[in-house]
Parts: sequence; structure tokens; C-alpha cells
Amino acid sequence: MILTTSSVEETMDLGHAIGSSIDEKTMISLSGDLGAGKTHLTKGIARGMGIREEVTSPTFAIIQEYKIEDKGLFQPLDMYHFDLYRITDEEELYHIGYSDYLNKDALIILEWAQNVRAALVPDRLDISLEYTGEDNKRKISLEARGPSSERLLKKIGENLRGKYENTGN
Ligand code: ADP
Ligand code: MG
Repeated sequence: MILTTSSVEETMDLGHAIGSSIDEKTMISLSGDLGAGKTHLTKGIARGMGIREEVTSPTFAIIQEYKIEDKGLFQPLDMYHFDLYRITDEEELYHIGYSDYLNKDALIILEWAQNVRAALVPDRLDISLEYTGEDNKRKISLEARGPSSERLLKKIGENLRGKYENTGN
């Protein structure tokens, strides 16, 4: 699915539609250059999942944990947000305890996933964000890599009902 957002608010709204569609353990990889919108999309995803805490772009921390406060509403999942800007390969990622996070019943979301391709689980949602040449527009591509992420992508599509759809121009 290829979408275009025209403002940071739209990207966060798209994130909200993604987050509110997540109902099971999931991995989302985010690829794209600095300033493409990965963190803002993550902010929206967290909101959509029912996380109240403000998602920040960690300068030094590589992993931020966001726990759901009032569990019991709709099978809420925690979120583990990785910022791999400074991680150059898979070995470094495993060094910071990546394997333990994979076992958690949570959303694992990775910014700069392009740095650690080989460490990503096979069934995941790949999202890439690109500049378009127009200041506030971003081309955002979502691609499911397995059966669970396929189901998730279908739900996201239903949630969006055509919003932000790329019309091909
Ligand atoms: P990244 O995490 O990919 O480095 P950020 O989300 O931190 O990117 O920053 C994106 C920047 O681009 C913000 O300053 C935001 O205001 C700006 N921006 C402009 N248009 C958009 C858009 N359509 N979607 C997301 N961010 C946008
Ligand atoms: Mg970021």
C-alpha cells in the first residue's frame, strides 16, 4: 500500500490508524532518511495503541519502553521503540539484548531498520518513508512480509477507508 501524507498531522493520523489496528504481537520496521517522519509516525502509532506517554526521539538511548497504563481495555500491548541510528550492524543489536525483546508480547518498532535487515523477523510490516520534493509531503509505503502482517495491513486499509491513498500523480 502506497500513501502520501501532506503534513506532520496527517502522518501522525496515519500512525493512529496503524496503532489502533494492532491486536497482537507485531514487528514494524521503519526505513527512511533523517527527518523523513519515522518518529512522528511512531508517535501516532503509540497513541493509536492507547499509550499516553509522549514518544520522544531518544538521542542516546537506543531502546525506549512504553507500557500501557490501564490494561484490560482491548488486550493492550506494550511498545518497544528502537532507534538504530547509531547501530551499524546486526551484531551490535544483539549485543544490546535484542533477543530478549523478541520474546515479549508487544509491538517492536524499529527506526533505521535498514541498518539491521538480517535481524528482522520474517513476518513483519515494513514501512518506508520518503521525501517527495515537496516540503511537507511524504510518500509512505507499507508492505506486509507474512500472514500476520498481511492481516494487519488489511485492517489498516479498512481503518483508513481510502485516506492518504496515492492516486499515482
Ligand atoms: P525521523 O524520525 O524520520 O528522523 P521525524 O519524525 O523526527 O523524522 O521528523 C520529521 C520532520 O519532518 C519533522 O520536523 C516534521 O515536522 C517534518 N514533516 C514535514 N512534513 C511531514 C510529514 N508529511 N510527515 C512527517 N513529518 C513531516
Ligand atoms: Mg527518528
